[in-house]
Amino acid sequence: MNVLVLNCGSSSLKFAVIDPDTSLERVSGIAQRLGSAEATLDVKRNGNRSSEPLPGARHEVALRAIVSLLGEMGLLERLLGVGHRVVHGGSTFSGSMEITPEVIAKIEECIALGPLHNPPNLVGIKIAHELFPGMLQVGVFDTAFHQTMPPVAYTYPVPLEWREDLHVRRYGFHGTSHRFVARAALTLAGLPAGDHAIVTAHLGNGCSCTAVRNGKSVDTTMGLTPLEGVMMGTRSGSVDPAIIGHVSQALSKPPGEILDMLNKRSGLLGVSGLSNDMRTVEEAAANGHERARLALELFCYVLAKAIAALVVPLGRLDALAFTGGIGENSSTVRAKTVQHLGFLGLELDEEANKVHGRGTAGQITKKTRPQALVVATNEELMIASDTAEIARRNGHAAR
Ligand code: AMP
Repeated sequence: MNVLVLNCGSSSLKFAVIDPDTSLERVSGIAQRLGSAEATLDVKRNGNRSSEPLPGARHEVALRAIVSLLGEMGLLERLLGVGHRVVHGGSTFSGSMEITPEVIAKIEECIALGPLHNPPNLVGIKIAHELFPGMLQVGVFDTAFHQTMPPVAYTYPVPLEWREDLHVRRYGFHGTSHRFVARAALTLAGLPAGDHAIVTAHLGNGCSCTAVRNGKSVDTTMGLTPLEGVMMGTRSGSVDPAIIGHVSQALSKPPGEILDMLNKRSGLLGVSGLSNDMRTVEEAAANGHERARLALELFCYVLAKAIAALVVPLGRLDALAFTGGIGENSSTVRAKTVQHLGFLGLELDEEANKVHGRGTAGQITKKTRPQALVVATNEELMIASDTAEIARRNGHAAR
């Protein structure tokens, strides 16, 4: 039995075929630079990578090419359904949903909250419906896991009309990853399912941390949009909002342009002046590049402060789980962050920290409570599992 997982972005389409029962990934890949002459379809199967040009292709052509590849591989037989990553589910979706016309209408309503992400997500859903008529389609929302946050965690202290009429509140993102990682950390750390306090730190191109109490998100660092919270690759994370008015006036540029710079030209890139990639920043810092050193130190300092703040809603810390491209691969970021958090009882095991990375999950601190650990995230598997669960619940069989 297989599930096709789709993650449709503005110029890319990530896919994977996963057997949710065995967690086995049969094939995965990404069609990128869609809409340009350089568009490609990059595929990974059985550990081998290949790439074919798809000049000028948009999402539909790319998805057709993917479906044709899956057909050749015999993966369209026993397909249970298609699971879609959807970024913004607003306050409407607190879990994954079978996609119906009503659900599509609700995702459309959330476009105002996720103007960059929801439209391409909807394109993926529409094309998949055309290519797989009658097949189960499931929406898995980045925001859904955080719908358990209490009002003190999701309310902004802003005018009532903004909150009531404009739905201005904190939603949180990366929910599928935080959910997966919290579950994995629970097992790895041997914590009781009914009584645990975990902070998950998803550190990739975008970064966010979540406080998970007994399997539920009780607070998170991202807010109305994925700009809030810790420092990221190109995003500033939380800054004084008055900066927007100040810089807008000083540069005679509209506020939207300043916001764009906070999203695309800040974070590691803005501070280092070099790159949004932690590998480049770490290498330059090690070679004495002052701004890269500041970027690295600032990233870990801001991150540690955010993790410490998330212990407030938890009341205690049992485990801190690092994940995402940086969290899984950068022993330097993990070490610096854990060192800032020594007052919580975390004590780094330097050898274990060097060993763990993508593929080797495990503990990186000396004591077991609280402990820090590395967990490889797998949002695609979570989407496939949710799709299989909904298929079972709603009586859909593989075909
Ligand atoms: P993701 O969005 O989870 O794929 O993470 C992407 C980010 O992970 C990249 O932008 C890099 O900054 C970071 N990354 C990947 N490999 C390493 C590594 N070996 N050391 C430090 N950072 C890494």
